[in-house]
Amino acid sequence: MYDKNNIFAKIIKGEIPCEKIYEDESVLFFNDINPISKIHVLGVPKLSCKDFSDFISKSKPGAISNFFKKTEMIIDKLGIRNTGYKIIANSGSDGGQEVPHFHIHILG
Ligand code: AMP
Repeated sequence: MYDKNNIFAKIIKGEIPCEKIYEDESVLFFNDINPISKIHVLGVPKLSCKDFSDFISKSKPGAISNFFKKTEMIIDKLGIRNTGYKIIANSGSDGGQEVPHFHIHILG
């Protein structure tokens, strides 16, 4: 069950501020509040989905590729395409996921 009051849902709704990198009708990218590397950006689909599996199963055709194409666009915007980066998606309790809205970490 998706918790619609989780912190990323509130950020998407604009109820809690964030350091926005990019936003459109389907995705939001913003700086992690507690960065673990020089560049630490979070990317979320606006779809109400709690983890990776939920994102995949609930997404309409095209939405998954759209999310990752936007991720690549942000990687370019951040200037780390050539220097390299990690993309991490913690999923579920054994995956160490703390915020129950699917997200990726971009670490550069
Ligand atoms: P995860 O363990 O994959 O669920 O990661 C959750 C991430 O969200 C952590 O890296 C937190 O630092 C980050 N985080 C939590 N609250 C906020 C917030 N209000 N704004 C930005 N990042 C946040």
